[in-house]
Amino acid sequence: RDGQEAGAAAMPRRKSRQIMVGTVPVGGDAPVSVQSMTTTLTADVNATLQQIAELAASGCQIVRVACPSQDDAEALPAIARKSPIPVIADIHFQPKYVFAAIDAGCAAVRVNPGNIKKFDDKVGEIAKAATEAGVPIRIGVNAGSLDKRLLEKYGKATPEALVESALWECSLFEEHGFRDIKISVKHNDPVVMIEAYRQLAAACDYPLHLGVTEAGPAFQGTIKSSVAFGALLSQGIGDTIRVSLSAPPVEEVKVGTAILESLGLRQRGLEIISCPSCGRAQVDVYTLAEQVTAGLKDFPVPLRVAVMGCVVNGPGEAREADLGVASGNGKGQIFVKGEVIKTVPEAQIVETLIEEAMRIAEDMGIE
Ligand code: SF4
Repeated sequence: RDGQEAGAAAMPRRKSRQIMVGTVPVGGDAPVSVQSMTTTLTADVNATLQQIAELAASGCQIVRVACPSQDDAEALPAIARKSPIPVIADIHFQPKYVFAAIDAGCAAVRVNPGNIKKFDDKVGEIAKAATEAGVPIRIGVNAGSLDKRLLEKYGKATPEALVESALWECSLFEEHGFRDIKISVKHNDPVVMIEAYRQLAAACDYPLHLGVTEAGPAFQGTIKSSVAFGALLSQGIGDTIRVSLSAPPVEEVKVGTAILESLGLRQRGLEIISCPSCGRAQVDVYTLAEQVTAGLKDFPVPLRVAVMGCVVNGPGEAREADLGVASGNGKGQIFVKGEVIKTVPEAQIVETLIEEAMRIAEDMGIE
């Protein structure tokens, strides 16, 4: 851990402006955050919230959900309200969903300028609505959906083309006085992506969301993302990251977290993760999470503790947590690494978690 801290202290950091994605600061001196994206149908609120619970339990700090249809847009209020982590709505084709996402209470909205028809006409209205709601916008340029005009100008999605597209869209927002922006310029080739982000970092002070798009299956995607993020983060470029894998999104979070840990940019402490609760919840998750937080707050060991609302899915969803509880029927199933080790009456949940936390600390050689 000393090594990690030394690494973090030595790491330069590009000076970026800070935005707030819900409760998570992005940019400035905020720690680099880890994001992922759900793979469920957003319109299926329960399935989406379940996957968000799983992602949060594995350390995901911000989650993005796709919003390609009216049904998805209608699901956003419930998802935004119940998610334990800030939700970003990903809008590709229709500006009207940008307004729906802002109204729904999403923490941010991602727009892909190359894909939103008549987007330019709507920027003023979007800027106004976003400003009033305090919602930042991510301008997410993607090599695969680059503006036709720029494709013609550059012949293909070069770093220059990606950067020009992003800065052009920023300038449209800036004309309306809107600067609550973060940017991504994704490409599937890490070499192009690294160069694009370097150029972008030099050209503006907006916080940057790093990503290699279509990075591929787990092994290849992990390598591509590690190389690209490592190159950029070691130069202080990048404020939030998303590893894209053709694999369950929890794997993306694990890889993203490991990249930050290996660069000394992430130090684990006590982390309490509670599920958003859904139709299956058999307990007041929020109260239980508060009690568990109070019980473990001075615990000296980095630990991820999950508080889940039901015994059906709780342990499975939280399998990446070190320790957790899933409640139902007045009892709490205590689990370690997703395996149920015992069931105790509700009144004994907090003391049992403390005992188990101590056992884990002993195993780690910490008194
Ligand atoms: Fe998952 Fe159960 Fe919580 Fe619902 S109540 S989000 S199924 S753990």
